[in-house]
Amino acid sequence: MDKKKLVILGATGSIGTQTLEVIEAHSHRFEIYALTAQSNVKLLAQQALKFQPEVVVIGDESKYQELRSALEGSGVKVMAGASSLIEVVQYPGVDMVLTALVGAAGLEPTIAAIEAGKDIALANKETLVIAGDLVMDLAQRHHVQILPVDSEHSAIFQCLCGENRQKLEKIYLTASGGPFFGWDREALREVSVAEALKHPNWNMGAKITIDSASLMNKGLEVIEAKWLFGVSTSQIEVVVHPQSIIHSMVQFDDGSIIAQMGLPDMKLPIQYALAFPERLENNFKRLNFADYSNLTFAMPDRQTFRNLELAFIASQKSGNMPCILNAANEVAVAAFLEEKIGFLEMSDIIEETMGRVAFEEKLDLELCLESDRESRRVAKELIEKIK
Ligand code: NAD
Ligand code: MG
Repeated sequence: MDKKKLVILGATGSIGTQTLEVIEAHSHRFEIYALTAQSNVKLLAQQALKFQPEVVVIGDESKYQELRSALEGSGVKVMAGASSLIEVVQYPGVDMVLTALVGAAGLEPTIAAIEAGKDIALANKETLVIAGDLVMDLAQRHHVQILPVDSEHSAIFQCLCGENRQKLEKIYLTASGGPFFGWDREALREVSVAEALKHPNWNMGAKITIDSASLMNKGLEVIEAKWLFGVSTSQIEVVVHPQSIIHSMVQFDDGSIIAQMGLPDMKLPIQYALAFPERLENNFKRLNFADYSNLTFAMPDRQTFRNLELAFIASQKSGNMPCILNAANEVAVAAFLEEKIGFLEMSDIIEETMGRVAFEEKLDLELCLESDRESRRVAKELIEKIK
């Protein structure tokens, strides 16, 4: 059997490193054409020596020499800069691109990969938040599959396999609730960066961990689900399920609900996306129902966790509003991590940016990139005022 040839964008991150574990366990099925990272030269070089890709790309061009020296004599080609990402994803022998880089930086390489006919294992949800309409349309025109890596979307995808999608009535997107589930606004105002970085069930990169604590992650996932599964915002309901055993559910128009379950481990949705339509054996820990006598469910508090409400508003409004939401959120999360603004001020910045940047109903790529730039500029200006 031919090995599937992969590009991994964001190989040094949480999803990237777990992807490499999956590939190592199934090395007879997968081979790596390129690994990329933004700035972590040390880990990228280690990964390259171990997995022997043909190419590595470092996003930060000032680190090019350092990476070259680290890979001297290895035979691995070294490239640098965002334009090199576009080049490697379009390489003729590549079958699939796994997008595990964080933020809006995922959009352009994903579009380039689709245009070159590569299947996408999509972890970078921001791509669909910013330009879901364009990206899904492009994928259809190029006969490209978009396979979700996000655990909730993988769950929904699995629940829909073999089903008539016209019969889908509703999606229940589950949320752990994050570390502050049940807190009120007074308590949230005082939250520290260290507290927000401690997620109860998942170990992830900093940006998505903060998004999980503020429920923006769930908001972004609502928008991601809308585009991936072709439903309206009103067909998606968020359910807080603190044990993270049910990864999401679908309901059909006869009222029947199907759930996908398992212990929380991102390696499973990663492996499923890489191997689809096959399922591969693994030795991941199995769920023991005796350990979970209580699976609980609650409704999210969209007043307290205002980011979730803002994401629903942006999703309903559509056009460039989700792009504005996403850009403002990226700027706000970075400012919170640098302790320039407080936890609740992130929502203030996002809401105000959504009100200030011109709304556009019809999107093209140029407009997306322009809205992204303008929203970042406005959000940064607002943060300067708070400081
Ligand atoms: P991370 O911060 O751990 O890793 C990010 C990776 O992207 C790193 O390899 C980094 O070098 C690279 N990168 C960062 N900025 C870049 C840029 N501007 N250009 C190119 N490369 C860049 O992030 P993560 O937690 O692995 O998340 C990656 C993506 O997957 C995010 O979109 C996130 O929402 C999504 N996701 C993550 C998880 C998870 O469990 N971590 C679950 C679901 C979805
Ligand atoms: Mg998720």
